[in-house]
Amino acid sequence: MTARLRLQPEAVGLGMTSQRVRDRLIERLRAGTPQAPAIADERVLNAIRTVPRHLFVDEAFATRAYEDTALPIGHGQTISQPWVVARMTETLFLDGAQPSKVLEIGTGSGYQGAILAALGLQVYTVERIGELLRTARKRFRTLGLNVRSKHDDGRIGWPEEAPFDAIVVTAAAPALVEALTAQLAPGGTLVAPVGPASAQSLLRLRKDAAGVVARDDLGPVVFVPLLSGLVD
Ligand code: SAH
Repeated sequence: MTARLRLQPEAVGLGMTSQRVRDRLIERLRAGTPQAPAIADERVLNAIRTVPRHLFVDEAFATRAYEDTALPIGHGQTISQPWVVARMTETLFLDGAQPSKVLEIGTGSGYQGAILAALGLQVYTVERIGELLRTARKRFRTLGLNVRSKHDDGRIGWPEEAPFDAIVVTAAAPALVEALTAQLAPGGTLVAPVGPASAQSLLRLRKDAAGVVARDDLGPVVFVPLLSGLVD
């Protein structure tokens, strides 16, 4: 799969955003750590190598963009840690799955959506905070990424566009959101952090051809909460 990106000079970066610094992040993800087990899917690693994460954070944080850490994006929200993005993305391709249409809940900075688009997926993303969504849309445009987005409460999903081969929820709810599971296509995979702030687990749900759902726990994670209502 090829990355679909139009790279501008500022996207290539210098110093702490140079290709060499980015490659170090890829090596770290590939090698793994006790807290962040190795990422093996080369397509996912390649997407992370290609998408300029420093363009998804405020300039003040650009020099930290290739550390494996979450960073603030304003409005009390964060861009996820690269390892978490890699893990969630890799999960969608497990067992030979070949998703084409994916729904993301919680656009935030737009980084996870950009990674999915760089993998050639048709991406639909929903964000409740208008200002974050507007900034993310500018980034998609700058990078020439075709991502469809809407300002809405993601807990209702995107019923007009359902079903989706994959659904990625990037904010944590106390329990799985029924409306989202319902919008998953047979054979599809949903990944979502579930549980209270202090004890979230990343859950993977798979719906078989007959519509029967199986779930497994991929381990502890920390996400901002999935909230109701819209903010301008
Ligand atoms: N995927 C993002 C991570 C952002 S953090 C990235 O790559 O940067 C989670 C995001 O979910 C926040 O922007 C938050 O505003 C959003 N969010 C929380 N509850 C939501 C809801 N009910 N509907 C849509 N977005 C929501």
